[in-house]
Amino acid sequence: MSTSLSHAKSHAEFQRAAQFIPGGVNSPARAFGAVGGQPVIMARGEGPYLYDIDDNRYLDYIGSWGPHILGHRPEFVTSAIQAALETGTSFGAPTALETEMAELVCELVPSVEKVRMVNSGTEATMSAIRVARGFTGRDVIVKFAGCYHGHVDALLVQAGSGALTHGTPSSPGVPAGCTSDTLVLEYNDIEALTAAFQNEGDKIAGVILEPVVGNMGCVLPEPGFLETARELCTKYGSVLIFDEVMTGFRVALGGAQERFGVTPDMTTLGKIIGGGLPVGAYGGREDIMQAVSPTGPVYQAGTLSGNPLAMASGLAMLRELKANPPYERLETLSTKLVDGLHQAAEDAGIPHVLAQCGSMFTLFFNTEKVTSYAVSAQNDTDRFAKYFMGMLDHGIYLPCSQFEANFVSNAHTDDHIESTISGARDVFASLA
Ligand SMILES: *Cc1c(COP(=O)(O)O)cnc(C)c1O
Repeated sequence: MSTSLSHAKSHAEFQRAAQFIPGGVNSPARAFGAVGGQPVIMARGEGPYLYDIDDNRYLDYIGSWGPHILGHRPEFVTSAIQAALETGTSFGAPTALETEMAELVCELVPSVEKVRMVNSGTEATMSAIRVARGFTGRDVIVKFAGCYHGHVDALLVQAGSGALTHGTPSSPGVPAGCTSDTLVLEYNDIEALTAAFQNEGDKIAGVILEPVVGNMGCVLPEPGFLETARELCTKYGSVLIFDEVMTGFRVALGGAQERFGVTPDMTTLGKIIGGGLPVGAYGGREDIMQAVSPTGPVYQAGTLSGNPLAMASGLAMLRELKANPPYERLETLSTKLVDGLHQAAEDAGIPHVLAQCGSMFTLFFNTEKVTSYAVSAQNDTDRFAKYFMGMLDHGIYLPCSQFEANFVSNAHTDDHIESTISGARDVFASLA
């Protein structure tokens, strides 16, 4: 497939980056490893668009991997950051902004009665499992293959294929001891989850899951899966943790727990909560959160946690989402896009399945409905790579991996959706 866009400056800049930064990127998800080629180096974002340093414009379906649900640089966020900047960048002492943020999170996510701010989603999940373990006095954490919870040692276990085996780390540098208390199951496998609790429920501190998965592509919970996790955790006194770093304020204002009507004991948040600045949070039931230092014995701290610039940005974002919820419009736009992509792929005779939850979706080059990592592993990643490059050439910036969710933002319009579908038609025609 020929490239119609010039990426000369991006390529030169990437060579320079690769000399000083491992792989030229500060997070591996940004490298184009899975699709071949080199990443495009961005210069600026505006509304639904990204502009690279060669001045190519892209319609953005990543939104910085989640945060930009209202598009790039909305005025109310940038002005809130500017106002905060006038008062200081960090105090290392409490501010009223932090309380306002905590109060609003507790209001919007009703299962959260108390919340602690951190600086990333990884920090949030790392802290949440520590609290679950400290609170219960147990060690075992259940996670699901294909769910990503950040680069936390104990959670860097993916393989498992439904086997009831304790995990082996999927990265060098994670001692086996760090994952020996991590039990990995297949997502949506209600029987395996039930069996795990029957076998060792009294050892299980908690279950952590993405209530809608974004990190093996978009995978929805099958009916009964979340409910079963809820019932088992209640029955065995284990802590149910919804990792809503991606789904929080995305699939509904109150996250997946609101959308699916299942109430976790703890919730982790990230991405949208910072409005584009680095913020994570973990919270939940009052009695559990009271275990956190300084009220309780479970230690967790952060020099820049609750940073005033980040709080101002996140608060501006959450207030706007509360005042003008974009969710119905996002659902309509996203459904239109997903239906259009489906029709275009169908017309080109390309085997595919689409999964969507609100403004999160994935087009899988797979013949089977993707319900678990085992099924997602069968995706045709070569075809995806060609699709990705073709779309990039059409000025459409998609996640550079088949195993990621795409995001529609409220800055997208019907015209954008239509031009994306027609771009996909062209690309599918060249793939068929
Ligand atoms: C992105 C993500 C994380 C990690 O968040 P970081 O801010 O990248 O550390 C954790 N869990 C889920 C579900 C995520 O999507």
